[in-house]
Amino acid sequence: MTTQDLKQMDLDYVLHTYARNYIHFVKGSGARLFDNKGKDYIDFSTGIAVCSVGHGNERLANAICKQAMELIHISNLYLIEPQAKLAKELVTQSGYDMRVFFANSGAEANECAIKIARKFGEVNGKTKRYQIITLDSSFHGRTISTLKATGQDKMHHHFGPFPDGFVYAKDIADIPNKISEVTCAVLLELVQGEGGITPFNKSEIQELAKLLKEKNILLMIDEVQSGIYRSGELFASNYYEITPDVISTAKGLAGGVPIGAVMTRLKDIFSPSDHGSTFGGNFLSTRAALEVLEILKEEKQSGRLDKTIAYFTQNLQDLQKAYPEIFIQEIGLGLMRGLRLKDSELLTIFLQKTCEKRVLVLKSGKNTARFLPSLLITREEIDEGFSRINEAIKEL
Ligand SMILES: *Cc1c(COP(=O)(O)O)cnc(C)c1O
Repeated sequence: MTTQDLKQMDLDYVLHTYARNYIHFVKGSGARLFDNKGKDYIDFSTGIAVCSVGHGNERLANAICKQAMELIHISNLYLIEPQAKLAKELVTQSGYDMRVFFANSGAEANECAIKIARKFGEVNGKTKRYQIITLDSSFHGRTISTLKATGQDKMHHHFGPFPDGFVYAKDIADIPNKISEVTCAVLLELVQGEGGITPFNKSEIQELAKLLKEKNILLMIDEVQSGIYRSGELFASNYYEITPDVISTAKGLAGGVPIGAVMTRLKDIFSPSDHGSTFGGNFLSTRAALEVLEILKEEKQSGRLDKTIAYFTQNLQDLQKAYPEIFIQEIGLGLMRGLRLKDSELLTIFLQKTCEKRVLVLKSGKNTARFLPSLLITREEIDEGFSRINEAIKEL
């Protein structure tokens, strides 16, 4: 099928929810994607932090194939071996004394986190506590309640009325001001994925964790984007040396197979029928996630992941120093990185030019170029990507 025919079919039959770029990819290998003409692109975006072990990963593909031939799905009414093993692996690798619920996406994982907070608020305290504090520039998903949890007002048009019980703080320092007798939880990202990639200050987060513990308010960390070694540790929470009450994660967990997970210290918060999912935690997605965690654990333990992070970051810092009139700042954590550009107009042109030079880079916030490469990206792939970005900059 020609790209033009495919584009027309897409426009005719698929709802227009995305400002699509009509590149027609047909194959991928490592950090490279190939279009239908055989042209290669360097992928610094991994389907928005999803393809954590790169494209065409043989170990992952083999695990998925083998599982698909045996069992894909049986429902949560029966034992699911890879689900139990995955839960154990997440708990063991994180070092957190928790239990896990499996969903199918980041928003769904956050829905579960919100239900945990609501039930916690109902049973702990004299009056029912139900309010959850989130941040102004946060992003927590696109279901009705996670949209309301998302602090960016521009996302709230058209879709009200929303469920009650979300209040927004300007920044971390403003959170204590928003606490009231009905607050049950604080939900936040440690590095805001859609909000500009700036990691919050470590000691400020630790102070907040301490305060919330004193007030018996849950600390819920949205690690949908920052989780699964993207930060350099299994969770950014590990890097911040905090023990959250709830962690939600999703994107990179199964390398592209849809999955979401919620981990909580409140091991007995739910009773049967409080929550559930038809697809969540099925054989296929949990087997894929087990393989991804195995691959990434090896990458971390061998020291390769830390070297990749250092090399990628060095390349970004060099770029920032070489073009200070374009890039005002290099920021981020692990392989969740950003270059802050002078303004949003310049960012638009930069992203357009890098795409023309066949490098995929994302946007975050108003003026940040976001880099989320495969955690297995090689030096050769990094070098090639940055050499193309340098070409792109010459045309700005
Ligand atoms: C992507 C993202 C979500 C939503 O995940 P979906 O799988 O798209 O529902 C929620 N929170 C954060 C921090 C995200 O980056």
